[in-house]
Amino acid sequence: MDVSIVNRFFDDVSEKIGLEEGYRQVLRYPARETTVQIPVRMDDGQLQIFTGYRVQHNADRGPYKGGIRYHPDVNLEEIRALAALMTWKTALVNIPYGGAKGGVACEPRQMSEEEIKRLTFSFTNKLRMVIGPMLDIPAPDVNTNAKVMAWIMHEYSKSHGWSPAVVTGKPVELGGSPARESATGRGAIIIAKEAAKSHGLVFEGARVVIQGFGNVGSHAALVAAKEGARVAAVSDVYGGLYNPQGLDVEALAQVVARKGKIPETNGGEAVTNEELLELECDILIPAALEDVLTKRNTPRIKAKLVIEAANMPTTEEADRILRERGIPVIPDILANAGGVIVSYFEWVQNMQHYLWERKQVATELKKLLTRAYKSVIQTAEEKKMSYREAAFAIAIERVAKAIRLHGI
Ligand code: NAD
Repeated sequence: MDVSIVNRFFDDVSEKIGLEEGYRQVLRYPARETTVQIPVRMDDGQLQIFTGYRVQHNADRGPYKGGIRYHPDVNLEEIRALAALMTWKTALVNIPYGGAKGGVACEPRQMSEEEIKRLTFSFTNKLRMVIGPMLDIPAPDVNTNAKVMAWIMHEYSKSHGWSPAVVTGKPVELGGSPARESATGRGAIIIAKEAAKSHGLVFEGARVVIQGFGNVGSHAALVAAKEGARVAAVSDVYGGLYNPQGLDVEALAQVVARKGKIPETNGGEAVTNEELLELECDILIPAALEDVLTKRNTPRIKAKLVIEAANMPTTEEADRILRERGIPVIPDILANAGGVIVSYFEWVQNMQHYLWERKQVATELKKLLTRAYKSVIQTAEEKKMSYREAAFAIAIERVAKAIRLHGI
């Protein structure tokens, strides 16, 4: 994946909405890119050097905001693309942030917890001049979690004083929001329910297939099941489990929490990740990694609706094929925005040192997401655009307006 895909969408939509060329130049490139060397003493005594990135795309609507991922495939191009997506996501759901993304190229599955902790301390140290509560606020992403956020907060606070607002997605005991961990998955299901309604599908009893059973996928599965859908298949990096009548997701989540992977049998039959995407279902939710819906498999996708819970799961060609086949795709910048919305609520509470009730978080999340969904549907209809184009159009116009108001 590279930034050119995001930029092609950006260019197409900018053309359609008549955005001035100067603004296109500003928004096509990140405002700042930081690449750092991260030396880590490994458990065997060897010093290993990792490379880390923080790309800050735009901050005209508020501080930079975006996750940090630990994955062997992390590279500058990928982080650039994801940083730009964050700018469009925060603008689309209308929260006062810009966009950023960070990551370290490493294989956390082959590292001990102590090694990951030392890597995080060292990475934070290198970033401490470019992140901050009013500057850039990281959050969890692939292979990072509340624990990693606590380590970032700890290391940053050593030089800046008690700073819970420097990260979101922290443990509740350190100022995190109890609803943050489930927020992205929950948000994807709020959007799935709205989209089902708009496209004549009944969510209760609908067959939902979810790729990825990490933070986003597992919570999406749990919420979908709770809301009455049949979660017919889920998967992780090792493979998946399928039962057209619906899996017992609660029981599965407990096994995964204990064993670290989806078992090959547990009320269903084993499927590969490739097979899973092509299963007969009503709603397909990719919630793992990018580029999983491609020109190769998309002609065989049987879902009636695709909800992009992962970032950029659909390649450009696949997007075109799905459009031609009349399968609606709810784009990532809307479908997975629940996480950054609750991150925003967490940050607001940290800045005010005042805690909200869980119910208030849930109510406000639904309000912001539903509003954004309606604006996308309306814009798509009015401007004869796909949902993705409409989402980009709303976001680009908001950011361009902010730049104008700054007097640039
Ligand atoms: P995670 O690390 O918690 O979980 C990732 C899941 O995907 C795991 O179950 C893993 O086994 C599985 N997986 C990894 N590689 C795979 C492969 N090749 N094939 C199939 N499954 C694979 O990550 P997450 O936080 O759940 O993030 C998932 C996606 O959602 C990413 O695209 C991320 O950028 C996006 N996202 C996450 C958040 C968040 O709040 N965590 C917010 C917005 C978007």
